[in-house]
Order: sequence, then C-alpha cells, then structure tokens
Amino acid sequence: MHNNNELTLGAPLSGPVLALRSVPDPVFASGAMGDGIAIDPLNDTLHAPCAGQVIQVARTGHAITLRAANGAELLLHLGLDTVELQGEGFALLVKEGQQVRAGQPLLRVDLDHVAQHCRSLISLLILTNGEGFDLRPLTLSTVQVGEPLLHISRRANAGPQPLTQEQSGQQASARIKVAHRGGLHARPAALVRQTALSFNSHSQLTFKDKSAPCTSLIALMSLGIGEQEEVLVSCQGDDCQDALQAMLQTLGTAMAADAHGETPVPAPAAQGPVEDGVLPGVCAAPGLVYGPLVRLNAMVLAEDHGQHAPEPQRQALSTALDQVRGEIRHTLEQARQRRDQQEQDIFSAHLALLEDPTLLDAAEASIAQGRAATHAWSAAITEQCQILQQLGSTLLAERANDLRDLQQRVLRALLGEAWHYDLPAGAIVAAEELTPSDLLQLSAQGVAGLCMAAGGATSHVAILARGKGLPCLVALGPQVLRIDSGRQVVLDANGGRLELEPDPQRIAQVQQAGETQRQRHALQQQKAHEPALTQDGQQIEVAANVASSDEARDAHQGGADGVGLLRTEFLFVDRQTAPDQEEQRQAYQAVLNAMGDKPVIIRTIDVGGDKQLDYLPLPVEANPVLGLRGIRLAQARPELLDQQLRALLQVSPVQRCRVMLPMVTEVAELLHIRQRLDLFAAELGLSQRPELGVMIEVPAAALMAEQLAEHADFLSIGTNDLSQYTLAMDRDHAGLAARVDALHPALLRLIAQTCAGAQRHGRWVGVCGALASDPLATPVLIGLGVSELSVSPPQVGEIKDRVRQLDASQCRQLSQPLLNLPGAAAVRQACERLWPLHS
Ligand code: PEP
Ligand code: MG
Repeated sequence: MHNNNELTLGAPLSGPVLALRSVPDPVFASGAMGDGIAIDPLNDTLHAPCAGQVIQVARTGHAITLRAANGAELLLHLGLDTVELQGEGFALLVKEGQQVRAGQPLLRVDLDHVAQHCRSLISLLILTNGEGFDLRPLTLSTVQVGEPLLHISRRANAGPQPLTQEQSGQQASARIKVAHRGGLHARPAALVRQTALSFNSHSQLTFKDKSAPCTSLIALMSLGIGEQEEVLVSCQGDDCQDALQAMLQTLGTAMAADAHGETPVPAPAAQGPVEDGVLPGVCAAPGLVYGPLVRLNAMVLAEDHGQHAPEPQRQALSTALDQVRGEIRHTLEQARQRRDQQEQDIFSAHLALLEDPTLLDAAEASIAQGRAATHAWSAAITEQCQILQQLGSTLLAERANDLRDLQQRVLRALLGEAWHYDLPAGAIVAAEELTPSDLLQLSAQGVAGLCMAAGGATSHVAILARGKGLPCLVALGPQVLRIDSGRQVVLDANGGRLELEPDPQRIAQVQQAGETQRQRHALQQQKAHEPALTQDGQQIEVAANVASSDEARDAHQGGADGVGLLRTEFLFVDRQTAPDQEEQRQAYQAVLNAMGDKPVIIRTIDVGGDKQLDYLPLPVEANPVLGLRGIRLAQARPELLDQQLRALLQVSPVQRCRVMLPMVTEVAELLHIRQRLDLFAAELGLSQRPELGVMIEVPAAALMAEQLAEHADFLSIGTNDLSQYTLAMDRDHAGLAARVDALHPALLRLIAQTCAGAQRHGRWVGVCGALASDPLATPVLIGLGVSELSVSPPQVGEIKDRVRQLDASQCRQLSQPLLNLPGAAAVRQACERLWPLHS
C-alpha cells in the first residue's frame, strides 16, 4: 500500500536533535544503515513517528522497525551498542505485526540503566530503504515528542524496491558462524547489506527455516540470528564467488566497537546461605542499625460487584489524580530547591506516568463499563505491571514498583485515607516492597532502616534511601514478612544481613557504633558556632550554600560563618513573570536578616542555556552549556541584570552583601558590572558599594585568575562547572558521574593557579562547588591556598571539625605533589592515606 507519497515524521523522542554525521558511531554516521537523524533523548518512551506497521522488533528489545503507509521502512534504534544489554532496561509496548498510530508509545527505556551500561543514549531514526525516497530534516534543535522532525517523500520514478539484482545461473554458498557480539542486530546487519549491495550477485542468508535477501535490513534482522549461530550464505550471479568471500568476511569478523564494548555491570546478587537467625539480602543503602521491626502492609481492595454510574467515578478519579499530581509537584519543588537531581528525576517520571494515556485510557475504559474508579485504576496499573514483569528483565520488573507506588497513592486519595504510618521512633520497617513516596514519608517520620522482601538495589527507592542515609536491604524474600512486628533486630546493610536473634554482645556492638557516630555528630554540632582554626592557627571560613531565606536560617543555626553562595535563580524559575525589583530586594534582605551579622554572597542570576525561563525567551541553543548562560545574560538581556543589581544595592547593611558573578571568562565582563554598580549606586546616592567577586567556573577564568583578581574583591571556585568544562564531561551525565571528580589533578592545578593569581593581589579564594562539602578534599583545598569553604548547610559542623584536625603548613607541603598524580582516583587514595577520615 504505497498511497501516501509525502510524509512528515513526528519526533519519536524528546531531546536535542543531531545530524546523522554527528552520531559517535561510524556505521550510523556514515549512512551505511541509511539516511536519518538522531535524538539525544530526555524522556523514557519511544513513540511512533507516524502510523504504520511494526515489521521488526529486535530480539533484545532495543530497536523497532515500522513500515509507513508509503512503504518507507523506519528503523528506530535506542542508544548505541544497546544490543549488548540483552534486553535489560527495555520494555516493549508493541508486538511484531501490530498496526500503530502516530505518536503511540512503542518502547519504554530505563534511561538510568542504559546510560550507565552503554556507550550513549543517542537514538536513531533511519530510513532503511531510502533508495526510493527523498528525506529532509525539519529541525536540528531540541524537539518534544510528536513535533515535526523529518519530511520524506517518495520519488516520482521510484518503483517498488527491487528485491533481486542482476542474476546469472552461477551460484556459490557456504556456512559461517556469525561473530558479531549480540548477533545480527541492526549495525552488523547494515554492514552485511552494504557488502551485498557492492556486488551484482543476489545474496541471501538462511537461518533455521527462514531465508532473507541481504539487501533488506529488516529481513536480515528478522531472522533473529544470535552470536556464534551458524548461517548459510548463498550468492547467485556472475560475481558470486567474490560476493561470497566478502559476505563470509563481513559475517565472520566482529566489529571493532563490539570487541571493545563495555561489559555490562552484573546485577548484585543476594549472598549465599548464612547462619541461623540471619536473613540474607542485597544492600541497597549502607548502614548498621538496631531497632524494632515493624511490618507495613499494602492496601487491598475489597471485591466490587456493583455497577457504577460512570460520570461520578470519572470525576472521582480525576480529582484523585489531580491531588496526587499536586503532591508530586510539591515534592518536585522541594527536591529542586535542594538540587536533589535523583529525587527530581524519579518524581518527574511519576508525574509523567500519571499522565500516561495507556493507563488513563485503560482506567477510563473500565469506568465506562461500570467499574468503580478505585478498581478501574488498580486494574489498569496491575496490567501494566504484569507487562513489565513478563519481559524477563530485573530492571524493568523493578520499575513496576513505581507504578505500584502510584496505584497506592491514587487509591489512598480516592478512599480519602489519611496517609500516615503509625510507627515507633527508630523502627526498622519491613514491607513487601516500599515505594518512593513511602520512603519520603518514612524518612520524615524518623525510621532507622528499611527491609524489603522484594525490590532491587537499582530501584528508585534504593537510590532515595542512599540519598537520605537510610540503611536498606532488599530481596530478603517472603520470610521477612513473617517476622512478628516489634521484634528487635539488627539491620547490617553493609554485610547484607538482617539479624533476627542478635545476642547482647552484638547489640552492644551495633549500639556502640551508632553511639560513636552520634557522638561525633553531636560534638561537631556543639562546636559548629566556633571559628574553624587549623592546628597551626589559620582560620578557614566555613559558609553555606543556600537558595532561600529558610535555608539561610537553618545554616545560621547550624553554625555557618556566612552564606558563601546564594543561588538567586531559584527566585526566577517556576513562575510566569520575573520578580520585580522590590520583590527581589525583599528576598535578598530576608537572607541577610536570617544570617545575623554574617556576610552573604549573592550570585547574580545564572540562567540561560538549558535553564530557560518561560518569561525570558532566549534563542534555542545547539549547545546550551556553552551558550548564553551566567554573566553572558548581561549581553542578551541587560535590563534583567541591571534590575537585579539595583535590588542588591538596596539591601541593608550593604557591606554585609557581596555580589558574585557566574561564568566569567574575561576581565571585561567584571569591569562592565563594576561600572553598572557604580552608576546605580550614584543614582541611589549610596556611598557604600558591596564587594564584587567572580566565580571561577571555566578553565579560562582559572588561567586568568591573576588578571581577574586585580579587579575583583574575591574569587570563589565553582568546582561543579569547573569539572564539567575542564574534563569535558557533562556534570549531569549519569554514565560519567563517577568520573566527573573535582579531585582530578587537572582541577587541582587550576585551583592552585587560581590561589596563586589571587594571592598576587591579596585577594581571598573560596570554593562553593560540591568539592567544598567533601571532607576528603578539605586538606587539599587548604593546602592549595583556599581560605573559605561554602558547603551544604547540614555539613557545616563536620567540615569545621575536619579543618580543626589539620595543620595548614603540612597541608601545603603534602598537596603540591598531588598535582603530579595520574588521575582523580590516585588523588583520592593519596588523601585517604595522608589525611584519614575519623582518625
Ligand atoms: C559550581 O558550578 O560549582 C557552582 C557552585 O555553581 P552551580 O552549581 O550553581 O552551577
Ligand atoms: Mg556553576
């Protein structure tokens, strides 16, 4: 059916669009698989770019081919080298042969898992039978699912794609084992096709009882040939011998990228048999605690045989959904304020799930048949959970937990049940499986630890438990649910053990370890309000990074010597209009007031790039982190920055306010702002000016520290961005997270150079990036010449305590050689040896 000659394809994923040649994979980039386009996905569901039939689904679930009504065959390939995951992280939502509508969800992907275990998430849309079509990209910027992406038109003279080539009676055939890792998936199949196309002969592969012409990628992939499986290659035509040799060569040689592909990390397994009275589990968050075990049960619905009028049920479900969405948005807002990316990612996914048409349509269909809203919602979720669990992927089965979370939350909202668990303080909670929202609730109620019969160490709830410092064991099996509530147990998450009969000696040991930790914390807190002096008398200011006056109040109570970084963009985001000058002044004044007589460093707005404001349209950037962000906004929207500077000048006392500029790369940017401040101060009749400092966040600024320090009152190193720009690694890239380490010797060199440059002009240097909150880094930073550390508020006491244990001159001596070490891991090891923690 070739009736639709012109076709516009909608984006199958949301995210930045890349030209095919920019894809970091030679087979795709060279067009060997066909022409197309790529997207670096930000969402987790692949949608159909047009209506069509699913003609091929990769055995490993990472790629799907659709045939559009005009005959175009479209390969949708998620990530690079994702075949190696063997299906882990992918949930197919459609089957081979199925007709799909444009925009229909086809495949769901666990972005965290795939990003961590594969080369790249960059996903492709390839026209695999492009011979008869012209293809034209419609955009190369960021797209949302469904937005126009590509235009394809069928050439006027294009007949049906020839399935056979020039043939003669000559034939040659041979058998060979396919050497490609993961078998004949999309990329090796493309090489086979390319090889076949360079000969006159018609080549085909036969596997089991099916044959496929080598000119058709789809047909090749549909054979489902695995690695090391034997195929029959047949070539027919005048150059059949040459063609056969070339085909054997292509099939029998693993691709270079395959040979060097990353080995997926094996999933953690429960430990083997252990002694009586101990349940073995898998550590999802470390820690050692003792306390009463308390069981939590999930909500179970009574059977519903009634026939309900649909409209009130529809209304009830809609209200309940709105309520839960509102709660999740609130959680998201709080996570955003704390800059807790993991929590944001998890609950953004929950919000998206609550809007998923598959779920809503299923619930609506049940309601239309007379079911109660509770049962309709519950059944819709159960059905999706079953699909995820039947895919045979542990990871996807773990994601069913997120759905169950929403099942319970919406049910609670529907039934109006107060959502609060009755628990004694210090309880160790046992449940079949806890959900992310349970975890937030339990953590707020002060539980000591978590045990789950099911669950996995990579689930969202595990990630959250780690972030909250709550020891957590998963995969303990159903026995954990048979333990009487109230029994005193030891949860040794590090050792993967739930000890059901701890003897008095063991209890004493666990309590002692907990006590030591608490005492250390209490001592640190007791002295948190005193200045932090090194053993040889150098004072290090330990300030706090905050985003609001509430946080500033907590920081002040926690002993912070000041605010080292107020991220003012939090005042500007998530609203429809910009805050006016007076609103800004009040917000900055509130932070000053919350800090008593301590200094407050206020950073001017750092938006632009990927942090867009609804009311501040900026040009779409091909490369946002290298675009108009930070101080560069002064160039794009000068009036916004002028207004902020005016508001800052009006706080009182202005000497307690220090202004800091983000993303500075050269002196002119600093001088420009100094002139604006002078001008506005003169307009306002002010005799005092706030100090003006710059952030050292890009290598250029570190290398120019001396020149900047000539005109700045202070420098503050933003190690988060400085790491990103020095190591050329996205600071939010899940797969690179462990390597974006600011203790890399290259960063240490830039920090040393910054301090040396500042010293020449008698300026002080602080660190306000996350490295300042890492106690392992404290001696190195002091050693390199940093005199202010701006840390996350709860860590003020801990970092002050660390400073007091150090000798600054010894730190100076021992830090220099670290600059010559080969990498960040070597620096960390050396720090652990030279300045052990808790010594
Ligand atoms: C930094 O880059 O280290 C920094 C403190 O700024 P932000 O994290 O707000 O970009
Ligand atoms: Mg920064």
